[in-house]
Amino acid sequence: MKIHEYQARELFTKYKIPVNTGRVCYTVEEVAETFDEFNQLVVIKAQVHVGGRGKAGGVKLAATREKAIEAGRNILGMEIKGIKVEKVLVARAADIEKEYYVGLINDRNSKSVVLMVSKEGGVEIEEVAKNTPELIHKFVIDPQLGLQPYQAREAAFKLFDDIKQVRQAADIMVKLYQLYVDTDSTLAEVNPMVLTPDKQVLAIDGKMNFDDNALYRQKEIEEMREVDEDEMKEIEAKSKGFSYVKLDGNIGCMVNGAGLAMATMDMINLYGGEPANFLDIGGSSNPQKVIEAMNLLVSDKNVKAVMINIFGGITRCDDVAKGLIEAMSQIETDVPVVVRLTGTNEVEGREILKGSKFYPAETMSEAARKAIELTQKVHAD
Ligand code: GDP
Ligand code: MN
Repeated sequence: MKIHEYQARELFTKYKIPVNTGRVCYTVEEVAETFDEFNQLVVIKAQVHVGGRGKAGGVKLAATREKAIEAGRNILGMEIKGIKVEKVLVARAADIEKEYYVGLINDRNSKSVVLMVSKEGGVEIEEVAKNTPELIHKFVIDPQLGLQPYQAREAAFKLFDDIKQVRQAADIMVKLYQLYVDTDSTLAEVNPMVLTPDKQVLAIDGKMNFDDNALYRQKEIEEMREVDEDEMKEIEAKSKGFSYVKLDGNIGCMVNGAGLAMATMDMINLYGGEPANFLDIGGSSNPQKVIEAMNLLVSDKNVKAVMINIFGGITRCDDVAKGLIEAMSQIETDVPVVVRLTGTNEVEGREILKGSKFYPAETMSEAARKAIELTQKVHAD
């Protein structure tokens, strides 16, 4: 689960991590009122669940009431990476001498929380990790001991020379770690943490993700949930018994079994295609389920072809084929659908699909290649 920056800041404040004060605004009028109250240079920031808002024009400084209104008008309603901005944070702008990165993540290799710090703050950390990984310093935190002050200071010394700033930064890291553990977080980032000209260390951006499986014991976090369209789809899918994750590609996948779903995505990638989603519909040939899954896939505008990959075990391929035909008779879509059926009663299954508008395939690789080909045809039209 993701939260917005303004919500991360509320948690930071609760844990006494210093931030520049701000307020969330839903209208241009509220932006103007907030400017009047702060009566100083403000920063206006889109609140959406994606990074790189700065680059996309979703973060603007404003020195006057007029500029604040103009920025509010521009940012409210704009789209960032396909997500509509419905609220902005208006904060007292900090004076910045230098920007740093501080982050905590769950690291599978060390089976621990890892603290990462870098002097390359403010920019997207993924870029730094790719191009200059040596500029990111990592510290594995012992789960029994937690982040010890000496370890936090060691990390802070990678950023600052002056002991006064080292202490401030280390203090922020220890508090951030406490917040991270207390809330079952899976990611906590302060990017940037800044040094001001009067030598204060401040968090001016915050990002936090949480473990969905821990929400049952994190009521306060769960109450912060504000879902956007994509997340709404994932939640809806879950309530229907699917596991669904939206991705950026154009081939919709419908598969029975999580392992097979992963293999299907790999196969599409192998032939140069890109899956639009992960979707495990579970072990059933119920036509209603297929209809729902199909509707879910074609509601994604990026989907240009669908690949259905079914391994018949207890689920019989002829049942699945019947379900598919019934389902397609109830769905209006021009998206071509490739079906690969294998396992119990596969021959009968394929026989049923003959003459239908499905594109049959016998092997997984054939199905993947066909689906990719079909997306290219659509492109050419
Ligand atoms: P992101 O692009 O989504 O990560 O948004 P950030 O909140 O990190 O803002 C992007 C950039 O805008 C920062 O790296 C800063 O350079 C600048 N910025 C953000 N807040 C302030 C502020 O309070 N004062 C100043 N001077 N610049 C800011
Ligand atoms: Mn940032």
